[in-house]
Amino acid sequence: MTQKKTLSFQAEVAQLLHLVTHSLYSNKEIFLRELISNASDACDKLRFEALNENALYEDAPNLEVRVGFDKEARTLTITDNGIGMSQQEAIDNLGTIAKSGTREFVSHLTGDQKADAQLIGQFGVGFYSGFIVADKISVESRRAGLPAEEGVRWTSGGAGDFEVETINRPERGTSVTLHLRDDATDYLSTWKLKSIIGKYSDHISLPILMRKEEWKEGADNKGGEMVLGDQWETVNQASALWTRSKKDVTSEQYQELYKQISHDHEPPLAWSHNRVEGATEYIQLLYLPAHAPFDLWNREKAAGVKLYVKRVFIMDEAEALLPSYLRFVKGVIDSSDLPLNVSRELLQESRDVKAIREGCTKRVLGMIEDLAKLEKDEAASTEDKAKFARFYGEFGAVLKEGLGEDFGNRDRLAKLLRFASTQSDTASVSLADYKARMKEGQEAIYYITAETLAAARNSPQLEVFRKKGIEVLLMTDRVDEWALNYLSEFDGTPLQSVAKGAVDLGKLLDEGEKKAAEEAAEAFKPVLARLKEALKDKAEDVRITTRLVDSPACLVVTDSGMSMQLARMLKQAGQKVPEVKPVLEVNAEHPLVKKLEGSDHFDDLAHILFDQALLAEGGLPDDPAAYVKRVNALLV
Ligand code: ADP
Repeated sequence: MTQKKTLSFQAEVAQLLHLVTHSLYSNKEIFLRELISNASDACDKLRFEALNENALYEDAPNLEVRVGFDKEARTLTITDNGIGMSQQEAIDNLGTIAKSGTREFVSHLTGDQKADAQLIGQFGVGFYSGFIVADKISVESRRAGLPAEEGVRWTSGGAGDFEVETINRPERGTSVTLHLRDDATDYLSTWKLKSIIGKYSDHISLPILMRKEEWKEGADNKGGEMVLGDQWETVNQASALWTRSKKDVTSEQYQELYKQISHDHEPPLAWSHNRVEGATEYIQLLYLPAHAPFDLWNREKAAGVKLYVKRVFIMDEAEALLPSYLRFVKGVIDSSDLPLNVSRELLQESRDVKAIREGCTKRVLGMIEDLAKLEKDEAASTEDKAKFARFYGEFGAVLKEGLGEDFGNRDRLAKLLRFASTQSDTASVSLADYKARMKEGQEAIYYITAETLAAARNSPQLEVFRKKGIEVLLMTDRVDEWALNYLSEFDGTPLQSVAKGAVDLGKLLDEGEKKAAEEAAEAFKPVLARLKEALKDKAEDVRITTRLVDSPACLVVTDSGMSMQLARMLKQAGQKVPEVKPVLEVNAEHPLVKKLEGSDHFDDLAHILFDQALLAEGGLPDDPAAYVKRVNALLV
C-alpha cells in the first residue's frame, strides 16, 4: 500500500462515533485519560513482547508518553514509544470493534441520546473519545521491529470513513494528533493539561512528559508571556499506584485507578490494598464494583484481575488468580515470584498462583463480610449501610456458584447468602436470621425454588407451613437449585426443599393431627389405588399428604430427584433431561378429592387433579387440549 486508501468504518464503530460526537459533552476531558491509557497499554505490550525479543527496543529502552500542543495549528499530540501498529493493525484496530464486550455494548444503544449518553458513561470509549474534542484525528505509527518505511498514517474526520497511507517513520510507536474543535481551545494550555493528567493519569507507571514553560519577555519590554521551551519534564508521579504505601494514596486516586481498569463510571463499593509477605510475595489491590457488567453471566470471560510481575504488565483478565464465582472483582496483582515469561497455561499449574488465588479469595470474602457488618453497624452512614444490599443485589447470584466451586470457603459463603422468605419480600434473610426464628421443634431450614417470587409464595406446597407459622425461604435465582445441592446444612441444621420428598414436619405436628392423618390414609387406600392406576403414565406414585390445606393436590419429586423446575430450565436451555415422573400428593380433606370416590368421572377427575397441580407449580399439561376438554365436560 503506497497510495492513500479510503475505507469505511464497521457499522458499530460509525454508530459509536456518532454518539461520542453528539452526546458526550458533560465530561469532555476524559479523552486524555483514554488516549494516555492506550499509550500506556502500548508500552506495556512492547515491554512484554521484548521479554523474548530484546531487539524490539531499538536502542530506545526508556518507555514514555509525551503530550504536546501547538496553539497556532490548534493541535494536541499524544506520543508513545510503545509497540506501535502495522498498517493492517491500524486498519483493524481503529476501524473495527474487535472486543465482543464493546460490540454488545453498542448493541444496547437505543438511539435515544440521553439514555445512550448515560450508558456510554459506563463504558470506556477508548480511542474514539478523541472525537469529543477533535473534528479530525491523525494517527502516525510504526510497529516495533518493522522498517521505517512501513509506517502508517491514519486520518479520519470521525464520520463514516477513514484514510490510510504508508509513511516513513523512523521512531517506533504511535502519535495521535487531535485537531481541536472550536470549543476545545481550553486544552491548548499546559496548566489545563497538567491538571487533567494529575487527576486521571497520575498512577500510570510510565513517565508522562510535557514541555517546560518559559517566560519570554515581550518586544520593547511591553510585558511578556509563558511559552513552551525545549526541555521536557515529567508531570506525573510515574510510579504504579499499587506499589506506593497505602498512606500515600488518596481515596480519589484509588477510585481513579478503578475507573481506568474497569471502564466503570461509578466508584467501587470497596477496595483492599495489601502487600502480602511470606512464602509467596505479591501486592494485591482488589475492588468490589457497584454494579454488574453486561457479561457477568458469561463464565468463559470477564475475569477482572490484571497480572503484573515485578511491575511489568503480563496479562489482562488473568482468570487463574481468582475463582470463577468472583469474576466480578477488578484489580491488580503484582507478583515478585512468578517468572516474567509466565503463560496462561503455566499460571494454571503454578504453586505461587495457587497461593495468590487463595489469598485473594480470602481477601475478597473479607471485604464482602465487612460490607455485611457495616449494614448492621449503628455508627455507619446510611450510604455505607446500604452497600451490602447493593452488592448482594448485583452479585449475590454469582456468589452462590461458590457453594459448588469452593468447598473450602463454603461456610463463609453460606453466611453471606440472603434470601426472600414467607416473612420478607426482599432478599434480606440470612440463614442465621432464619435459624434464630425457627419454631420450637422445627428441625430443618425449609425452602422452595420457583421461577418468580409470586409463584414461590403462592405454591400449594407452602400451605401447611403457613398454617403452622413456619418460615420458608423463597428462592428464585436460576442458580439456587444447583447451588443448594452443595449446601446440605447450615450450622448443624439441614436444609430441606418443601417440594422434594414427603414432608415430615416431625415434632411440629401434635399427636392428634398425626393420628387423624393415619386414619385418613387408611380409609383412603382404595381410592389411592384407583388413582395410581388412572395416572400410571404420568405419576411415579400417588400418596396422601398433610402438607396441603386449601389445595386438592400438588406435585413433588422424590428426595433424590431433580426438581421439576430445574428439569424445565434445562429443557428450555436445550439440554437432555432424564424423564422425571413426579409424585402426586393429594389432600384427603379437600371436597374435590372427597368427590372422587363416588364419581362417574373418576378418570377425568384424576387427570384434572394432576394437570392442575402441574399448572399450579408453573408447568404445562402434556396435552393442554385434552385438559381443557375434560374440564369443560365437567362444567357442562
Ligand atoms: P481498547 O483500548 O479498549 O482496546 P480503543 O478503541 O481505545 O480500545 O483502541 C483500539 C485498539 O487500537 C487497541 O486495542 C490497540 O490495539 C490499538 N491502539 C490504540 N491506541 C494505540 C497506541 N497508542 N499504540 C498502539 N496501539 C493502539
